[in-house]
Amino acid sequence: MVTVGILALQGAIREHARSLEASGAEVKIVKRVEDLNDIDALVVPGGESTTMRRLIDKYEMFGPLQEFAKSGKPVFGTCAGLILMAKDIIGQDVGHLEVMDIKVHRNGFGRQRESFEIPLDVKGLEGDPYIGVFIRAPYIESVSPDTEVLATFQDKIVAARQGRFLCCAFHPELTDDHRMHGYFVKMVEETKNELHNVSK
Ligand code: GLN
Repeated sequence: MVTVGILALQGAIREHARSLEASGAEVKIVKRVEDLNDIDALVVPGGESTTMRRLIDKYEMFGPLQEFAKSGKPVFGTCAGLILMAKDIIGQDVGHLEVMDIKVHRNGFGRQRESFEIPLDVKGLEGDPYIGVFIRAPYIESVSPDTEVLATFQDKIVAARQGRFLCCAFHPELTDDHRMHGYFVKMVEETKNELHNVSK
């Protein structure tokens, strides 16, 4: 079984835990640097990216989180978590963790559309459309050639994957459909096997 950490500085932690467990992962709450040990992957939840960044700095987790991402273990950023992962944020000189080659538009759907739900066709998810719950969501304006676009809404990119990094602009933890978490857990299992084979 894989163990997935959830960065628990802000956001819907319990809901992410429920969805990860339903997808067959063990969950570890990550509140400080030591908690990053012994996890196979990390979820960076939604919330408010500038507040989360402040908390990351306050708990001296910035460097360790970047190291974790560089170690090859998978990271899944949702909504504000996606913003934290982006190398490029429109209107800002620098990003935050800067691990994914994506250019992000914060609050990109405008104020009129604070929150909404829409059915999405997400590449890699079988069956019915996936209902995306968007709350003051960002969108991805562009991605690098090695980043795969997994879903769009009105020509805006709302989910993407670059190798072991996954992100979505919506809140997959706020529905009973656990397929996005299932997709991530599968990525984690595959990566764990690969890393294990390399170290043998
Ligand atoms: N608008 C928020 C931000 O800029 C993200 C919203 C969310 O995570 N639901 O960080």
